[in-house]
Amino acid sequence: MACRGPRDIPTGFSAALGPDSAGQVRPARNADIELGASWDNLGPAECLGGALLAVPLVCSDVHRGHAPKLQTVDGQLYDHPETPARPALVREALEAAGLARSVAPTAHDVRLLDAVHEPKYREFIRDTCAELGPEAILTPVGVSMDPAVLERSDPAERAAYYSFGQDAPLMQATYRAAREAVDVALTGADLVRGGTVDAFALCRPPGHHAEHDRMGGFCYFNNAVVAANLLSGDGRVAILDVDYHHGNGSQHLAYTRDDILYVSLHADPRFAYPGFSGHANERGRGAGVGFNLNLPLPPHMQIDAYMDVLDRGCEAVAKFDPRALVVSLGFDTHREDPIAVLGLYSEDFGRLAERIAGLGTPRLHVLEGGYALNRLGESAVAYVQGLPGGTVADA
Ligand SMILES: [Zn+2]
Repeated sequence: MACRGPRDIPTGFSAALGPDSAGQVRPARNADIELGASWDNLGPAECLGGALLAVPLVCSDVHRGHAPKLQTVDGQLYDHPETPARPALVREALEAAGLARSVAPTAHDVRLLDAVHEPKYREFIRDTCAELGPEAILTPVGVSMDPAVLERSDPAERAAYYSFGQDAPLMQATYRAAREAVDVALTGADLVRGGTVDAFALCRPPGHHAEHDRMGGFCYFNNAVVAANLLSGDGRVAILDVDYHHGNGSQHLAYTRDDILYVSLHADPRFAYPGFSGHANERGRGAGVGFNLNLPLPPHMQIDAYMDVLDRGCEAVAKFDPRALVVSLGFDTHREDPIAVLGLYSEDFGRLAERIAGLGTPRLHVLEGGYALNRLGESAVAYVQGLPGGTVADA
């Protein structure tokens, strides 16, 4: 068995640029963007003797400064479940098990982010965070559809225009953390483009709730869709979202596209967040009709029934025959998750991974949710153990 490192970036790559008026992303074919990737930390050591070793785990500590509290209407602050400990627990467990090898993210052109999100939205987050003090936590006052609120002096009022809820507060470090999470995902996408079979992007904050120009659900930028959009320059891409919650942002950003299939298994929106999306009859719009598949789940579903639904999702992915697969990987389907009510055990995540890997498509696994801190590490270990373990493609 020969090994091929992820060093050969396909030439002639054209980055996707420019959301259209409907808010979704369209690939542009003319503007080359330098990837900025460095393969220096990936070498032949990863395939010594032809053996396939640990999965590359793209990770960074930059997110740690983003440690918000949740604010209720009476002004009380409560612990936010989306804590800096989450990716650290995953990383420590995977490294302790010898299943992952850390890879530092590389800086990517901001146009890859602006191709998916409204640039004014990104700039609002950047500029607002820069104005906050080191201890400040800015919670949007609510949700507004009126652009006139952008003229208000209070940044919490202005933030209402770029939010769809109050659970994605801004701190001084938030923009840098969210920007880094996108680079983590894009670095993972670079690995997949270069021939890696499985790459794990340890993104924080998560991203699948982030809309074209609104933050919410702990999400600011849609890491999975930015990565999928990059990968779509090489051919069709499927996003398989197995987070407990429906990825409203991911669905909407790909809703009119026929080159990105979005498939989601999630708790039924009739009882679970976000509530306004994720129904089975949401199938896409325009050219995207038939390229969006929602598979809502009842509460407390356990692994055997879950696998039957996952089969349906994987069959849709196989029929689409993508060149790459982005897995929006949430561990909040765990039965002990404090904000969810599904019934999976830690070891069950291995079965998910085996089924997904059975598709045979190169995969980028992007961390989304998962809040049971005592179960995150073992769930991630089970998941990666379910992968074939390849870091490099067969030559
Ligand atoms: Zn979730």
